[in-house]
Amino acid sequence: MPAPHSLIDIGVNLTNRRFAGEHGDILQRAAAAGVESVVITGTDMASSRAAAQLCAQDFALPCYCTGGIHPHAAKTCDSAQLQQLEQLAQLPAVVAIGETGLDFNRDFSPRPQQIRAFEAQLALAARCKLPVFMHERDSHSHFKAIVKQYRDQLAGAVVHCFTGSRTALFDYLDLDLHIGITGWICDERRGGELQQLVRHIPLQRLMLETDAPYLPPRTMSPKPRNGRNEPAFLPYVLAAVEQHRPESAAQIAAATSDTARRFFRF
Ligand SMILES: [Zn+2]
Repeated sequence: MPAPHSLIDIGVNLTNRRFAGEHGDILQRAAAAGVESVVITGTDMASSRAAAQLCAQDFALPCYCTGGIHPHAAKTCDSAQLQQLEQLAQLPAVVAIGETGLDFNRDFSPRPQQIRAFEAQLALAARCKLPVFMHERDSHSHFKAIVKQYRDQLAGAVVHCFTGSRTALFDYLDLDLHIGITGWICDERRGGELQQLVRHIPLQRLMLETDAPYLPPRTMSPKPRNGRNEPAFLPYVLAAVEQHRPESAAQIAAATSDTARRFFRF
């Protein structure tokens, strides 16, 4: 395990059923690994509500959450849900709208519905004066065009789990977006492009996340037996980022945590 630095995990799917009944232990281990706080990802109304409830519990570290409807669930996004989301967003624990965006890789919801749900949530974030936590897969040009329309009204916007091309990265930086980096960068099979690109992200635009339980860092040895990622493994993401940037791990940890605190306004 890499040496502990104070880190903030900006994307943990703690309401995922793979963590059921273990929230206390998971967050205890995260705190022991140096994680100072986490942002729990909401992906539909049920998980956003569950995330807000977790934030109200007394765990080893402070928890915040996002509230939103993932592009996979966009087909369920109607005006009633958007109203409920706007109410949920009033809770102090809800620090961003999302996860929202476009996923033309898996297309679990029809694209026109993904676009409508994304635009509605960007408008909602602007009304609530909250930043947005965004997901983009294989949809760069549509995504860019939509974000551009709303960018001036948004308090802040992060492309979480960035895995895109050089063109996409520079387009997003031009739109003054933040970039979330996951254990994708630890993947020797498919993380090569990200390893080359991560040095081009200004340090003040960069944040770290596990996206747990997904994407366990492949640099871990031994690998978790259940194949499940958790926020305690965030130091492996930091270590991989350090390998591909000029700064020290301590500098990256301090800067990314500072950026996360300012972005989510905790
Ligand atoms: Zn995502």
